[in-house]
Amino acid sequence: MSINVTIVGSGTCVPSLKRSSCSVLMKIAGENLLFDTGAGTLRRLLELGVDFSAIPYIFYSHLHPDHTGELCSFLFAMKYPETYRRKKPFKIVAAKGFSEFYERLKGVYGEWITLDPYLIEVTEMNNDKADYRDFGTFHIDTLPMAHTEQSIAYRITSTDGKSVVYSGDTDFCQNLIKLSKDADLLICESALPDQIKVPGHLTPSLAGQIAEEAGAKSLLLTHFYPECEPVDIAEQCKKTYSGKLLLAEDSMRISV
Ligand SMILES: [Zn+2]
Ligand SMILES: [Zn+2]
Repeated sequence: MSINVTIVGSGTCVPSLKRSSCSVLMKIAGENLLFDTGAGTLRRLLELGVDFSAIPYIFYSHLHPDHTGELCSFLFAMKYPETYRRKKPFKIVAAKGFSEFYERLKGVYGEWITLDPYLIEVTEMNNDKADYRDFGTFHIDTLPMAHTEQSIAYRITSTDGKSVVYSGDTDFCQNLIKLSKDADLLICESALPDQIKVPGHLTPSLAGQIAEEAGAKSLLLTHFYPECEPVDIAEQCKKTYSGKLLLAEDSMRISV
């Protein structure tokens, strides 16, 4: 059984026609798993032919607006009386702190984003140590990342052992190396070029070092700020990583 990965948005908080804000789709055993819902996600999903109102899982790496910005739009659209009205329950998975965040959103938007309680189930993962959940056709392992208190990365493993890691946002950390050990694919943030390293984010060579130390079989860099565009990102990453390297583009599909 393969894991089909589609990059929905490879960008950041900076509006871009080329790169929508952060979101990744994975399809396992016919089910769509959506990771993060930055601005533009709903539109990109339409372009990809994916019905947003039938997605059974949404996972959040953390709560920054470039990763959660369209959550309210999702929920509001799912209340549309006819075509897109949510009929089947779905799960939201995120680190501890998400439920409070969600309640606060409901405090602002009230019934406009409140679905029938049976439709939505929130699962909070540990934000200070390793965690694990089994969803039947796949399981997830999570570890905290070096970004915010609610930042976690996911390792998704199919029943036949294929594995994809999604870093979300992070600085260099041993936890990401540990989580990515021998993974088939590491989807890793690489926010800015080597020469503009900022705290809380990675660069191409640091992302490469993580993938190399983890022995990840392939590495897909994403979350590119505009400063990355004129730079040879692949060249910087290849200084530290010797495996198969891909640079994300919106709507790119990879099968693992
Ligand atoms: Zn962030
Ligand atoms: Zn981000």
